[in-house]
Amino acid sequence: MNLDLKLQKHAEHRPESPAIGWDTGELTYRQLNERIQKLANRFMERGIGPGDKVAIILENSPELVISYYASMRAGVINVPVNPSLASREYGVILNDCRPKLIITEIKIVEKVKNSGLDWPVELIVTGPDFDRYIDQGGAAPGNHYQEDCTILYTSGTTGVPKGAVLTHDNLYINADVFGRNLGLTDRDRTLIVAPLTHIAAQSNLLNPTLISGGYCYLLKRWKSTVETLGKMEKKRITYFFGPPTMITYILNEPALVDYDLKLRLTYTGAAPLPEEIFQRWTERFGFEIVEGYGLTETSPVVCMNPAVGKKKLRSVGLPIEDVQVKIMSEGFEEVPPGTPGELVVKGPNVMKGYYKREEENRKAFRDGWFKTGDVAMKDDEGYIYIIDRKKDLIIRSGFNVYPREVEEVLYMHPAILEAAVIGTPHPEKGETVVAVLTLRDGYGESVVEKLEHFCRERLASYKVPSEFRVVAEFPKTNSGKIMKAKLKEVMV
Ligand code: ATP
Repeated sequence: MNLDLKLQKHAEHRPESPAIGWDTGELTYRQLNERIQKLANRFMERGIGPGDKVAIILENSPELVISYYASMRAGVINVPVNPSLASREYGVILNDCRPKLIITEIKIVEKVKNSGLDWPVELIVTGPDFDRYIDQGGAAPGNHYQEDCTILYTSGTTGVPKGAVLTHDNLYINADVFGRNLGLTDRDRTLIVAPLTHIAAQSNLLNPTLISGGYCYLLKRWKSTVETLGKMEKKRITYFFGPPTMITYILNEPALVDYDLKLRLTYTGAAPLPEEIFQRWTERFGFEIVEGYGLTETSPVVCMNPAVGKKKLRSVGLPIEDVQVKIMSEGFEEVPPGTPGELVVKGPNVMKGYYKREEENRKAFRDGWFKTGDVAMKDDEGYIYIIDRKKDLIIRSGFNVYPREVEEVLYMHPAILEAAVIGTPHPEKGETVVAVLTLRDGYGESVVEKLEHFCRERLASYKVPSEFRVVAEFPKTNSGKIMKAKLKEVMV
């Protein structure tokens, strides 16, 4: 089975059920399937076939969904790319994978054109051109699946983007297990506001919903909390996924009480969910957020808390079906429960490797295990706790400070909207701990004076930040994560 075959089955058995909707339209499973087939045929008629690449540089839109599935059906490898990059960043990615076709939108086409495309490549802009392109495709059915499905470039919070090659099996199995664990059904209505060019929105929203025969409403991007809430109400959304930043914005929206929401499921991942936010969500909605953990390289879900059953606070749950997780010492020996070490993964969710990066692949895998670069711990029942990224660890005067622990404390303070703790170079201590903050409405910078005391009461003194700096906003990735590397550059 694969994602596209499952979609074709739904088109056969429930043709008139709505599959996707957006601000100006809706497609049933039958209509969506027809569009996908025509585009897949058009690719092949244009000489774009098995093994070729198609880059999809779009905000959430029906064109993105159609192109993503059509490329699967034509055996073409799709490369979804964040539509908010700079020209130079497009250049790095596009030069690496050299697509035969780029599908993009009018407002960014110039940036894409100027990114140094020095090989024969066709460019189509969504709108009338794209519609004509599809309409010219034949309607004859046919599948040309290849093993490789997608190349996704990691969002680059750690440096130069690398393309993770994900197969049909990787993506289907991950979305299927995830959807079953969460309890998605064909009656669910999913809001997609997280960007579909990121793995999380694909495997935690679009793909599991379509596999289940449910409905996806696409919002182009996150514009405001009020817009998101308005759509949730109007479209009777039952399932929402967002990174912790989106969850935090929703909870902090004063107008939240005014909305009549039908939500029954919420999932979060991609970054740590502060404990305080978890609790406030349960109080407001009457059900618990399910938190999980994963990476682009693992399709992404590695582990998640059970939707029904024992969830553990601060834990990212248990490894999902057929996925193995071990916690390893520096010497690559498994450590006992309660001991921190690097989290490594084996299973049907792990990518084939980074595209054309032999050296990186040798570093990323050991004895068949994928090394995540995250420090984690297991408890006696096998539940996993993410401590932090290895590279974010701050070493202050020889003591290890895990930023996440300090951030958790800062989130307990009512003035703080978002917090990021980073290490900056220090002549004697090696590194010093700096807390960078945004404040909730109604609080001014004077609150900073109280924060040191607040932290001292809750943390060992070597973990207490030496400095607290307030900023208007954080640099964030397209998937809503604070870019700590960039923050360090700005703050030093
Ligand atoms: P890059 O790989 O370029 O640094 P990125 O790390 O943002 O970019 P992703 O694949 O989007 O790339 O993110 C994976 C990382 O996100 C994990 O390695 C982990 O550090 C973090 N992460 C994911 N889920 C959680 C979670 N529930 N709690 C804490 N951290 C998480």
